[in-house]
Amino acid sequence: MPLELIKEVNGVPEVELLSELNKVDFRSLQPGCDYSKKYIQGKLSIISSLTSGGNRTAVLKIALQEQENSDSDINTINVLFFGKLAKDCAKVFYEGDTIAVAGFSVLSASSSTGRDGKHCLFLKAFEDFRSTVYVYVKSVRDFSTESMSLVPTTHYIYTPLNQLKGGTIVNVYGVVKFFKPPYLSKGTDYCSVVTIVDQTNVKLTCLLFSGSYEALPIIYKNGDIVRFHRLKIQVYKKETQGITSSGFASLTFEGTLGAPIIPRTSSKYFNFTAEDHRMVEALRVWASTHISPSSTLVKLCDVQPLQYFDLTCQLLGKAEVDGASFLLKVWDGTRTPFPSWRVLIEDLALEGDLSHIHQLQNLTIDILVYDNHVQVAKFLKVGSFLRIYSLHTKLQSVNLENQATLLALEFHLHGGTSYGRGIRVLPESNSDVDQLKKVLESADLTAGQCFDGICQSEHEDSFRSLSSSGSVSLYEVERCQQLSATILTDHHYLEKTPLCAILKQKAPQQYRIRAKLRSYKPRSLLQSVKLHCPKCHALQEVPHEGDLDIILQEGATIIPDTKLQNTSLYDSKMWTTKDQGERKVAVHFVKNNGILPLSSDCLILIEGGTLGEIYKLANKFHSVIPVRSGYEDLEVLDLSVPFLIQGKVHHYGCKQCSTLRPIQNLNSLVDKTPWIPSSVAEVLGIVPLQHVFVMTFILDDGTGVLEAYLMDSDKFFQIPASEILINDDLQQSMEMIMGMFCPSGTKIDAYPWLECLIKSYNVTSGTEQQICYQIFDTTVAEDLI
Ligand SMILES: [Zn+2]
Repeated sequence: MPLELIKEVNGVPEVELLSELNKVDFRSLQPGCDYSKKYIQGKLSIISSLTSGGNRTAVLKIALQEQENSDSDINTINVLFFGKLAKDCAKVFYEGDTIAVAGFSVLSASSSTGRDGKHCLFLKAFEDFRSTVYVYVKSVRDFSTESMSLVPTTHYIYTPLNQLKGGTIVNVYGVVKFFKPPYLSKGTDYCSVVTIVDQTNVKLTCLLFSGSYEALPIIYKNGDIVRFHRLKIQVYKKETQGITSSGFASLTFEGTLGAPIIPRTSSKYFNFTAEDHRMVEALRVWASTHISPSSTLVKLCDVQPLQYFDLTCQLLGKAEVDGASFLLKVWDGTRTPFPSWRVLIEDLALEGDLSHIHQLQNLTIDILVYDNHVQVAKFLKVGSFLRIYSLHTKLQSVNLENQATLLALEFHLHGGTSYGRGIRVLPESNSDVDQLKKVLESADLTAGQCFDGICQSEHEDSFRSLSSSGSVSLYEVERCQQLSATILTDHHYLEKTPLCAILKQKAPQQYRIRAKLRSYKPRSLLQSVKLHCPKCHALQEVPHEGDLDIILQEGATIIPDTKLQNTSLYDSKMWTTKDQGERKVAVHFVKNNGILPLSSDCLILIEGGTLGEIYKLANKFHSVIPVRSGYEDLEVLDLSVPFLIQGKVHHYGCKQCSTLRPIQNLNSLVDKTPWIPSSVAEVLGIVPLQHVFVMTFILDDGTGVLEAYLMDSDKFFQIPASEILINDDLQQSMEMIMGMFCPSGTKIDAYPWLECLIKSYNVTSGTEQQICYQIFDTTVAEDLI
């Protein structure tokens, strides 16, 4: 401070501020010497009135009389103060005051009044020269200047928070852990609640009241450091708390290590000593390792649905909605992951630069503030920088005119002051405002454009932004912290897309998503196994054993033709059964170059067998093909039954796509045993059907719910669908995987994330067109299997 008041008690100054500086006798002053670290002291003998010098600079001239060397011939010296310092001093100086001036320059002037013609010296002091003027005062005077402070009359003692006693009035320092910005309490007073903590790890909640908003601590965020003077400690319901007592005063400092230590206060008179400086530094250091940094400050681009957070922003516009709510249009230079809702008001009601707001519409959010905050909101200046505390977000679906639905983020500042809800104007000097300004200056105003032509013009302008929010940054962050229970086998270059964005885009497209499996259909896993034709894409149920039996019995009515037996391809044997009216069964053993192979390598063709018989033979022989006698050759029986049975595995063919060929064609394969189903199918003109899992996954990523269909033979689950029907272990593995994806008895929050690739496609049924989604190129993470 360029002007300091030091209180004197019985002629003795309370603090010795100048002990670090060297005092200079008047007589030893010389022009041109460095007096930046030195001071002179004397009694104010003459004070002239304030004049304005060149450039209209204020000039104050005084004469100081040295007390110690009163017999010296040079015991009076003129001091000229310039500029603001001159004005301030003029308000404070009284003749007879003891004054010290530190940091000055000495000039000489040929004085016509000098009795002996000697050059007379004078001092120049001004703020730019870092001059400091100390005035010793006997009592506090009624003066006011911005550049002075009152040096303390007493040395303040600060009580650690673990040593507070009810009924005392104390001075404390602490780090803010929680606060409510000043609000109008029920009376006419403003109230603020501040919880602080210090190195003793003891917390103290303080209820602070004042008739003026400004007199309460100017806290911007948790982690700020406060100094309270004259805080009354009381015990209420066994809790120690602090309340304002008469003369309460506070200073607030930024809590960040290394930030300049500048006290925030509305008070013009306060002391701040080197010891205070050390207190603040010590608390900063302690807080940096003991208090987690305030995580409630969130940028709009990181906002999640259903979140409470503090926002630093600039006010672009405001409007009264009704008596109980008020609209604030703000921005912070970043874009929300969902478009902001738009509160319906007439343009006329909106205060602010409409064209500017329109230009920034994709970066602007609408906040509704309620009840007690309405009064505060009314007086906010458009353009000012705000911190809004405990702002609440909700995700709402909005129905557009074209019947499309869109998800939009609502922002509410609910009534009351719970959880510190409130609004505070930040000064331009605030470091967060500084940062915000930089972001605003570099904000991408063109960011509202649509990508890939996906954004349809039929959407309302205000919702246009959704399409371009192709990624949900906050979700990304959160998701990255959790491993996925599935992994992609391809297309890693694809960016993740939130489901809500996918749901409103046209097909066909491919996406990478991350979602949870809310539920799935069918619940019975065995029902999920189907037969799929890779050629015509028809899906059909796996035939029931009962149905198979009936078809086989019908086939058995055709009597095996002996002319077709014992060929170069196979040796034949025929039985007549005693049951069921003497059914004839023929078995043809396919030879390998004229020689019958071992049964375990042997393919047999069977005519007239029952399912039970086929099963028995399939256990013994490598492969079984049910056949019947045709005109010239044996024929594959009927594609309703398996065309090939290997062990317990049934191979089916597509009735639509297959063009059956004579059994003799197997000749081309006899060298190439074992019997590979696809090769057998090929030579017999059969398009084999695939066993696949067909399931509907109801996926939820918090932004939307999407039904995606999974058709997988063995890649997704790493379990062959063709074998699951006959293998208990595989069925168990499958149950385990599904139970892990979608655990019963827990909330969806606890479900694992699934990273999936999905593709959209159009399905037309009748006149209706529908977009469907299918999972592809995704597999269950290995450690799950
Ligand atoms: Zn087909």
